[in-house]
Amino acid sequence: MEQEAVVTTVRCEQSHGATARQAFIGGRPLAFLPLTVNGDDRFCSIVWSTTPEHASELTAYSAEALGQALGEAFDHRLGDVMPVDSAYRFPLVQRHAQHYVQPNFALVGDAAHSIHPLAGQGVNLGLMDAAVLAEEVVAAWHRGAPWGSLATLSRYERRRRLGNTAMLGLMKGFKVLFGSHQPVFTLARNLGMSGMNQLVPLKRVVMRQATGERGRLPASCR
Ligand SMILES: Cc1cc2nc3c(=O)[nH]c(=O)nc-3n(C[C@H](O)[C@H](O)[C@H](O)COP(=O)(O)OP(=O)(O)OC[C@H]3O[C@@H](n4cnc5c(N)ncnc54)[C@H](O)[C@@H]3O)c2cc1C
Repeated sequence: MEQEAVVTTVRCEQSHGATARQAFIGGRPLAFLPLTVNGDDRFCSIVWSTTPEHASELTAYSAEALGQALGEAFDHRLGDVMPVDSAYRFPLVQRHAQHYVQPNFALVGDAAHSIHPLAGQGVNLGLMDAAVLAEEVVAAWHRGAPWGSLATLSRYERRRRLGNTAMLGLMKGFKVLFGSHQPVFTLARNLGMSGMNQLVPLKRVVMRQATGERGRLPASCR
């Protein structure tokens, strides 16, 4: 399903408590991400991944109507919601560069790969790319090797491509699972989520992977 993101900033009735929240509403994940403005912790950054038709509808709403739609969709978990900025929409596209490097040239972060914001992993992946690239360049410098050479930069690509590909694949799977209304997908999703919630060791492994605390990490990210 083609998706767009509608983004805006809102002020809620209640404090966000420094917690990021996401509701999966019929395959349209709605995220309330905590923001603090001048010490006021009732602001949230909104990302609503939805169909282009729904995105077009939402961005045409008045501030009051959009606030009401967001509050209702979110079951008023943070009370009433009022947008404090315009709402913007843009397409969500997953992409992965065929090559990250050329001599004296390297792609990192979203220039190398862009993924669905569903699990908030984009920044982590980009930081890991930058850390590994720096590590390989410094190592080449210590060895007295040319640090912009294809051989040096390819070491960075080899270390990052597999992990990035895995995360992109996982997000694609999540998108299908959470975006489908087919009973078999709904059942798999509900069983999977409640199963994982109860299997504490598995939940811990997934959380450590998502927060970048697991796997072969560059020294600066440990
Ligand atoms: C709606 C949405 C919600 C997201 N939510 C999350 C989240 O909760 N958590 C998370 O981890 N990630 C999230 N992401 C992903 C995250 O925003 C990106 O992965 C991250 O910003 C990538 O960082 P970057 O530095 O690689 O690229 P960017 O942040 O895109 O930075 C690139 C910069 O380069 C500038 N630029 C581009 N072309 C040129 C040029 N020719 N000359 C000079 N400057 C140029 C751009 O203006 C931009 O400032 C989200 C993404 C979207 C779209």
